[in-house]
Amino acid sequence: MAELERPMNETDRTELPSERLPNDAYDAELLANVRPADWTNPEPAPSYNLVVLGAGTAGLVTAAGAAGLGAKVALVEKNLMGGDCLNFGCVPSKALLRAAHFYTDLHDAPRFTGSAPVPSEADFAAAMERMRRLRALISHHDSARRFQALGVDVFLGDGAFADRRTVEVAGATLKFTKAVLATGTRAARPPIGGLEATGYLTNETVFNLTERPRRLLVIGGGPLGCELAQAFARLGCEVIIAGREPYFLPGEERDAAEILANAMRRDGIEVRLNTEVKSVTQRDGEKRVRLVNDNQETTVAVDEILAGVGRVPNVEGLNLEAAGVEYDHEHGVRVNDYLQTTNRRVYAAGDVALERKYTHMADATARIVIQNALFWGRKKLSSLTIPWCTYTDPEIAHVGLHVKECRDRGFPLKTFTVPMSDVDRAVLDGEGEGFVKIHVRDGSDTILGATIVARHAGEMINEISLAMVAGIGLKTVSRVIHSYPTQAEAIRKAGDAYTRTRLSPILKALSSRWLAWSR
Ligand SMILES: Cc1cc2nc3c(=O)[nH]c(=O)nc-3n(C[C@H](O)[C@H](O)[C@H](O)COP(=O)(O)OP(=O)(O)OC[C@H]3O[C@@H](n4cnc5c(N)ncnc54)[C@H](O)[C@@H]3O)c2cc1C
Repeated sequence: MAELERPMNETDRTELPSERLPNDAYDAELLANVRPADWTNPEPAPSYNLVVLGAGTAGLVTAAGAAGLGAKVALVEKNLMGGDCLNFGCVPSKALLRAAHFYTDLHDAPRFTGSAPVPSEADFAAAMERMRRLRALISHHDSARRFQALGVDVFLGDGAFADRRTVEVAGATLKFTKAVLATGTRAARPPIGGLEATGYLTNETVFNLTERPRRLLVIGGGPLGCELAQAFARLGCEVIIAGREPYFLPGEERDAAEILANAMRRDGIEVRLNTEVKSVTQRDGEKRVRLVNDNQETTVAVDEILAGVGRVPNVEGLNLEAAGVEYDHEHGVRVNDYLQTTNRRVYAAGDVALERKYTHMADATARIVIQNALFWGRKKLSSLTIPWCTYTDPEIAHVGLHVKECRDRGFPLKTFTVPMSDVDRAVLDGEGEGFVKIHVRDGSDTILGATIVARHAGEMINEISLAMVAGIGLKTVSRVIHSYPTQAEAIRKAGDAYTRTRLSPILKALSSRWLAWSR
C-alpha cells in the first residue's frame, strides 16, 4: 500500500497513511488509482499552457477540459487525486448516509408495510466497508493513469511557485503561460482546551473507522456535522450534536432548520444548540467534554469526538508571495469576478477561493477558468445560479436568494409554499414531512429563490435551478405537465398557487357570469 514519502507539516491535511487505513483490498485499489506507489513523474515540457495546482474536483475538471481542447497541461497533486470530494467528503459521506437511511427504513417497517417491526441492528463495519468499496470503484474516474491517458502531465508532490511564471514540484520546474490554484481547504481545528491532546476525528479521518464508536460527540451544526451526526446515529451510535448557533444550518430558512432539528431528535440524537464546547479531558478511557449553554455547564462522556467546525483554505506552502498572488488565511485566494488572482496569469477555482464550497461549484468555476484563462473569455462568477443541498433526511436544498437576502436587496417578494403532506406521492412514500417554498418578485412570476425540504430535495431543486437559469417564470412552471404521482408535483402546485393569484376579482366575476349564461 502506498506510503506518502514526505514529512508532515502544519498545513498538511491528514493523509491516509497505511497504518491508519483498514488494510483491505478497497483502499489498496483506491490508492493504486489516486496515489500509485510506483508513479514516476514525467519529464516536464519546456512550457505549459496551464499548470494546475491541486487535483480535487476543481483541478481535475480544469486539467481534463483544457487538455481536451488541445492545451499542454501539468496537474500537480500533493496528496490524493480526487481531493476532498472523492476521498474525505461527498463520496464517502453519501455512501454512509445511504446505508444509514436503509436501517431507518427497516426500523420503520410498520409504517411502510403495516407489518411487525423487523429486527434491524445496523452493521457498522459492513456499512463502512461498502463505502470503501464504492469509493474505490468511483476513484477510477480520478486516477492518475486516466489523466495521463487524457494527455495531462501528472506530477505527484508538493507544488509551490518559484516566481510569477514558474511552479516547482518534486525537483521539476514547470514554466507556465497560465496557472490555476485549486488547492482546496482542510478541516478547521477548533480551539478547545484539551482537544488536541485527547485526539478527535475530522472528515479526513472519520471514514477510516471500522468499529462503531459507542458514543460520539459531533461538534458543529453545519451541513457536515448534521449529515454525519445523522449517519452515525442511524448506524447505531449514541450521538450528541453540539452547535454554537441557536439553529442548525445557519443561513437556511428557520422552518427548514427546525424540521431538521426535530428529525435529528427522532433519530435519538441529543441536540445541544446554543452550546459552546469548552474543554475536553481524557479519563478512564473516555473523553469528558464540558459544554456550556446559557451559563449552564454540563459534562458529557463520549468515546469519540468529530469536529465539523468549518474549513480553512490551503494557501500555505505555495509561495504565493513569489507569484504575486494575494490571499488571507480565512477567505483564501483573492479573485475578481473572472476568477483571476492579483497575478493576471494565475486563476483560482474551487474551495480555495469561493464562499460556497461545493463540488458543483468547483466544477462550475473550473469551466469558467478554462474559458477565461485560455480563450480570453469573460465569464463571471457572479452570473452563476447556485443550488446546494444538505443530504440529511429530510434533505434541505436551496437555490437563489433567501427571504432575508431579498429584503436586504430591496426586492419585494411573494412566497408560494406547498407542504409535502399535500403531495400524493410524498404521502404514499411516507415522506410527507417538509415543503417546497418558492419566492418570486412581487407583481411578476420571476423566481428569486427556493427552499425545498423533502426526502429527495436535492433532486427536486434542479428543476427550479433550470427555470432560473433559463429565465422561466413560475407561471410557465405551472404549465409543465408533471408525471403523477411524483414528489416534484409540489413544484407545479406552487406554480398553480401563483397562477391562482393572477385571477383578478374582475376576471373571476366575468368568468362566473359567462359560465352562468352558458348553462
Ligand atoms: C464531509 C464532506 C462532505 C461533503 N459533501 C458534499 C456534497 O455532498 N456535495 C457537494 O457539492 N460538496 C460536498 N462537500 C464539499 C466538497 O467536497 C468540496 O467543495 C470540493 O471537494 C472542493 O473541491 P476543490 O477541488 O476545490 O478542493 P479539494 O477537493 O480540497 O482539492 C484540493 C486538492 O489540492 C491539493 N493540494 C493542496 N495544496 C497543494 C499543493 N501545494 N500542491 C499540490 N496539491 C495541493 C490537495 O491535496 C487536494 O487534493 C463535502 C465536503 C466534506 C468535507
